[in-house]
Amino acid sequence: DVMLRLDGLSKTYNSGKTNAVTVLQDAKLDIKAGEMVALVAPSGAGKSTLLHIAGLLDTPDTGTVEIGGVNMTGLSDRRRTIARRQDVGFVYQFHHLLPEFTAEENIVLPQLANGIAKSDAEARARDLLARVGIADRASHRPSAMSGGEQQRVAFCRALANAPRLLLADEPTGNLDPGTSDQVFAALMDLVRGTGLAALIATHNLELAARMDRVVKLDGGQVVAA
Ligand code: ADP
Ligand code: ADP
Repeated sequence: DVMLRLDGLSKTYNSGKTNAVTVLQDAKLDIKAGEMVALVAPSGAGKSTLLHIAGLLDTPDTGTVEIGGVNMTGLSDRRRTIARRQDVGFVYQFHHLLPEFTAEENIVLPQLANGIAKSDAEARARDLLARVGIADRASHRPSAMSGGEQQRVAFCRALANAPRLLLADEPTGNLDPGTSDQVFAALMDLVRGTGLAALIATHNLELAARMDRVVKLDGGQVVAA
């Protein structure tokens, strides 16, 4: 069962101008429920563009994005925002946690925005923190945590609303190699068993090889690496 289906995606920036850049050209990608796919490509190849389109943050010129069998193409801005909030979790290279809130609060807030009761949201936040091995950091603010801990919290926040799709753009790119390995393992443990589809951009080929499949961007298409 396909969880994410990208089909016929094309994207050109500055179309019709002399500085036009075609980033995607009839790109296709299917990711099954429970499947973790690594996306490796050099800087500028279009990884962020692909992730933003898959995550409903950007729209393609042509083509379709289906999440959980629902065609997201052509939704109004409002419905796309709702779908993104419910179906997609994002992780970036930098954690983007809210500095004035604790780890637990950072994971609770998106759930409250999604209509979850506070006590349920708090229980889920604590469960997620325990699963990435930092239950004891629940009351810490981001500034009181290490880079690896901050990124673990960012993973928990991304999964707070039990999305169907996890998108990550160099999630361990800011960490030193040893920390990167551990944090990456925590992410894989968190994703395993949830049945979500994950697409993770990384420059780290060793980490990529631990995933179910590795793809790259070549001439605007997604191909096996
Ligand atoms: P990556 O994430 O692999 O580094 P991006 O998707 O960010 O690649 O960018 C792919 C190409 O598209 C690059 O040449 C970049 O300069 C260009 N690009 C990205 N976003 C824009 C934009 N908003 N306007 C114009 N060009 C863009
Ligand atoms: P990353 O380092 O994650 O690949 P980039 O530095 O490529 O990100 O892009 C950061 C942001 O700037 C993105 O939102 C992208 O769409 C935008 N962007 C990238 N290249 C260009 C460009 N040539 N012109 C305008 N915006 C761009």
